[in-house]
Amino acid sequence: MRIYLNNRFVSEKQATVSVFDHGFLYGDGVFETLRAYEGRFFLLNEHLSRLRDSAKELGISLPVKPSDLGRLLYQTLIRNRLRNALVRISVSRGPGPIGLDPALCREPTLVIIPRMFNGSPAARRRGLRVAIVSVRRISHDMLNPQIKSTNFLNNIMAKIQAKRVRADEGLMLNRDGCLSEGSISNIFLVKNGRLYTPAAGVGILLGTTRQLVIALAQKRRIPVIETRLYPRDLYGADECFLTNTSMEVMPVSMADGKKIGTGKPGPVTRRLQGIYADRVRNDCRIVSRRGLSPEPSRF
Ligand code: PLP
Repeated sequence: MRIYLNNRFVSEKQATVSVFDHGFLYGDGVFETLRAYEGRFFLLNEHLSRLRDSAKELGISLPVKPSDLGRLLYQTLIRNRLRNALVRISVSRGPGPIGLDPALCREPTLVIIPRMFNGSPAARRRGLRVAIVSVRRISHDMLNPQIKSTNFLNNIMAKIQAKRVRADEGLMLNRDGCLSEGSISNIFLVKNGRLYTPAAGVGILLGTTRQLVIALAQKRRIPVIETRLYPRDLYGADECFLTNTSMEVMPVSMADGKKIGTGKPGPVTRRLQGIYADRVRNDCRIVSRRGLSPEPSRF
């Protein structure tokens, strides 16, 4: 793969950053993960705005304008002959002497890493297993949850705990014991035909996929309730699914070893998967009747 590093494309071997980079020393940086379908980025503006807002909150100035960043993302696909991909942009504070003062770093580091990605069809059919972990979501009065920062330690702790119990995703509660989000995903429950999801005030990242799923559901008159949810709501749900850029609408089959509903992807989840896929097809102008290609395709 060719990686974009600061101002040029380099090989994976050459794609290294300084040990003085404050991204490495302190986790001082921001990132976004985008998905490209058949050569087009989905929700590009939403991801670029969130990157800009996250960087602004931390006082990191993006080294290129968002419109140029869009161009660089497309160049990354073209250089790597990729059409279906996950592409991560990271912007760190950059190299500087040891010390927390951001003024020590003059130039932010910009990295764009692509990889071929065609979704996870097997997991979408089977559903994921989730586990509620003991690590809590950092509360929104400690750190603005909308900052998508490279400082991901409690999410990593959640992942470690989930793996210990053979779960695919760890769900974090907030400090009041409400369900907040997964280590890399937002959560939705279905009960009596209604969608429930943790409200912003619970302290969650308002995922681009979450926001779109809410809008798509409301357009189809599926009621969406953003509220406080507890583990008992999860165990008693008819259906549950997770959302994020790579998972899209991902069914959950088991939570803490208990089946959710029938233990199979439910009708509301499947309907939303279809509505979401239609939106991807439309926005990414995919014309094939078979829809999203499961095979790696190239330019
Ligand atoms: N919540 C967390 C903690 C995440 O890391 C992510 C994505 O990685 C999400 C939610 C979902 O965000 P999006 O739908 O924008 O991918």
